[in-house]
Amino acid sequence: MEDKIYDVVIIGAGPAGLTAGIYGARAGLDIVIIEKFAPGGQVVNSYEIENYPGFTEPIAGWDLMAKMEEQTRRLGVPIESGEVTSMEKINDLFHVNTIDKKYFSRAAIIASGAQNRKLKVAGEEEFLGRGVSYCATCDGAFYKDKVTVVVGGGDVALEEAFFLTKFASKVYIIHRRDKFRGTDILQKRVFGSDKISILYNSVVKEICGKEKVASVRIENIATGQESVIPTDGLFIFVGYDPVNSFVPPQLLNKNGEIKVNMDMQTEIPGLFAAGDVRSNSRRQIVMAAADGATALLAAHEYINNIACK
Ligand code: FAD
Repeated sequence: MEDKIYDVVIIGAGPAGLTAGIYGARAGLDIVIIEKFAPGGQVVNSYEIENYPGFTEPIAGWDLMAKMEEQTRRLGVPIESGEVTSMEKINDLFHVNTIDKKYFSRAAIIASGAQNRKLKVAGEEEFLGRGVSYCATCDGAFYKDKVTVVVGGGDVALEEAFFLTKFASKVYIIHRRDKFRGTDILQKRVFGSDKISILYNSVVKEICGKEKVASVRIENIATGQESVIPTDGLFIFVGYDPVNSFVPPQLLNKNGEIKVNMDMQTEIPGLFAAGDVRSNSRRQIVMAAADGATALLAAHEYINNIACK
């Protein structure tokens, strides 16, 4: 049997990949989405989304993504399980490889998103799952009436710190700058909570404990003074790195993001990137979705053009 050639292979089933799938189905293209975990992407880790248009009330991240997945599947788009390990373009065809399967397509869209950045301090690896977490929505309930520490100062850190106040008796936010980067509405929520204490100009030096996390050693970088905060859990939200291990290195900028133009086109004709993995992304669901639509429409145009040659 000859190998099947898809019009477009989409890598990743987060908001960018699923939206590309929706637009591809409606354009009548033969497409497939490859996803290494479950469809939904990072959003499933967010307990509440209130900035995605169309929902008058906040919606749980997993609920929003279940709807996006259902919409994609209803339109007939296959979502296959597999981790893409490498890809290349040979004679106008993309070869996309997973551990046990090879896909061929005329165009391809990389929508592999981003993953949590590590603090890279002693104890982080050792206590992962034993007090160290990157997801308050997933693990917050384990910290009922306990003391927790959140590291970071962006939207996600503030959102997740506020979420933890539902369970924890106390939430410290440790932030290396003297003010937060997160949006005003989230800052107001955090400032208004009597369970939250903020330590600005501070960094975590070490996560300590025996079986599980017992304390964190922090340093005030303005004064050089060190102190120890006893805690049961440390939640780390210090940014995200693009997921790019399978991407040809010449496509990446110095931050590891895939360079694209306004059509989401990379330097390789027919290869597009969408969402958090691409350069200058604002890392928002609505923007990832818009990128996915843009990439798919541009891929469609590209396929039509090569067919006319
Ligand atoms: P992702 O959502 O990261 O999806 C990428 C998908 O690709 C994943 O499912 C991944 O498993 C898959 N994948 C990766 N590598 C491979 C591979 N090699 N092979 C196959 N599949 C692969 N944004 C908002 O707009 N509002 C919010 O309130 C908000 N809150 C957030 C809260 C949290 C806790 C987090 C973590 C993020 C939040 N965001 C929010 C940001 C938002 O989630 C991201 O901007 C968005 O998910 C990016 O979508 P994406 O499709 O580009 O990537």
